[in-house]
Amino acid sequence: MLNSQLNQKSQPSFEVKEKGIITTVRECIIKVKGLPSCINGQLIEFKGGGQGMVLGFTEEEVQVLVLNSKVSLSTGDEVYSKAEFLHLPVGEGFIGRIVNALCEPLDDLGPIQPQAFYPVFAEVPGVMDRIPVKETLETGTLVIDAVIPIAKGQRQLLIGDRLTGKTTVAIDTILNQKGKEVICIYCCIGKPQSSLAKVLDLLKEKEAMSYTIVVNGVASCSMGEQYLAPYTAAMLGEYFMHQGKDVFVVFDDLTKHAWVYRQISLLLERVPGREAYPGDIFYIHSQLMERAGYLKPELGGGSMTFFPIVEILQGDVTGYISSNLISMTDGQIYFNTALFNKGIRPAIDFGLSVSRIGNKAQWPAMKALSGKLRLEYLQYQELLQMTQLRTTGLSKEAEQQMKRGQAITQIFIQDKNRPLSMEEEIIILFALSIGVLDNLSSSAIKEFKEKIIEIIKKDYSDLLVELRSTQVLSDANIERLYEALDKYFQNI
Ligand code: ATP
Ligand code: MG
Repeated sequence: MLNSQLNQKSQPSFEVKEKGIITTVRECIIKVKGLPSCINGQLIEFKGGGQGMVLGFTEEEVQVLVLNSKVSLSTGDEVYSKAEFLHLPVGEGFIGRIVNALCEPLDDLGPIQPQAFYPVFAEVPGVMDRIPVKETLETGTLVIDAVIPIAKGQRQLLIGDRLTGKTTVAIDTILNQKGKEVICIYCCIGKPQSSLAKVLDLLKEKEAMSYTIVVNGVASCSMGEQYLAPYTAAMLGEYFMHQGKDVFVVFDDLTKHAWVYRQISLLLERVPGREAYPGDIFYIHSQLMERAGYLKPELGGGSMTFFPIVEILQGDVTGYISSNLISMTDGQIYFNTALFNKGIRPAIDFGLSVSRIGNKAQWPAMKALSGKLRLEYLQYQELLQMTQLRTTGLSKEAEQQMKRGQAITQIFIQDKNRPLSMEEEIIILFALSIGVLDNLSSSAIKEFKEKIIEIIKKDYSDLLVELRSTQVLSDANIERLYEALDKYFQNI
């Protein structure tokens, strides 16, 4: 009862406040005496401005996390609690803006007009409020769209060592949403300001800010802000989801978020558990992941897709945070340092990557063409290992499998920040499936990928239009694709 009352931001004609006195200040955690009726998660205001949130209790004191970075607090100061959970502004005005975890603008574009106030730690929609995924989220990265397809409403973990191209794949997905009516949110947590600056430059250069919100929780922000940032990002997305829109959120990255929460917990004097993380670290991440989904039409029919990123050490996916996140998402994309160093970029090891629900929403044309890819690639990997021991006497069939495997590897290599449209991807995969790429060198395949699209755009543009509207390759269009391929191979 109290919870639901608190969740609705009521506006009484008078304000009831409880008063407390700060007894201890330790970094971002203060202890307060007084506040007899406050509960966990409740908002606390400081005398000189700024906000805090109740995070725990000792027998006599209340433990409060300070959210703002620029408040000075000292022992003996008064604090006030209102019967309210943390609510922050949301609205259309946030699109194109850079905000901190408290939704305050960090760019020079002036104040943001809020349309509503939403709870940062919202209750998630129940199972009956959701519907199964039904639409694909086009990432523009061929290997993902073909073998690890993502559906709108899905949570897909990007997992890999440092510098393996995780952020690049997430940002390319944002770049690919241009003109697709998907609102993107990039939430940066615990990273250096310079990493965020690079992402911002790229988003601006590619004109992606017009449909993107950036939530800044970089390492120089207060611990409270870094902890709050992913929940704020989810909250900003929820507003649009309730309006019936599709939202795509990147959390870069949750390893740093877990570190921050571990620090906060140690300051709260909670007993450290496995890998010194507090016992509720699973809860705080699953609480976040639950907010993704596809709402039923009565509730607006919007969706929220999550790309949480997690960094691991030396390819070890069994760490506490990474294995937790694997278990609470709908699949993972695994980035491999060895592939990255070999020049296979994006360095996605699709033997270890999986998407558990995305293929339900895949375009039929893509589904038909990509069905055998994983098997063919794994057979190729096996053959590669065998041929390292025995170099002569490969059967004709094995030779064919080797060539197909090499072609698959080549078509999946993709330049950064150059997302492909689904139609382009289907045409490339069609060429692969009929075997015309099997005997080409890697540079010839690269050239093919660029030129064939030009030919199709020039002479067969209606094919592209039909493919997008029907999502299938009709017999007539297959004929025309053969014709276009003929044209290309005659001219080289
Ligand atoms: P971090 O651990 O720092 O977060 P990350 O895994 O997010 O790293 P990125 O920052 O995305 O990795 O990429 C690392 C480097 O690899 C960057 O310099 C980027 O330009 C390069 N890179 C990533 N993907 C590609 C690609 N497909 N082609 C060429 N270069 C790439
Ligand atoms: Mg990164």
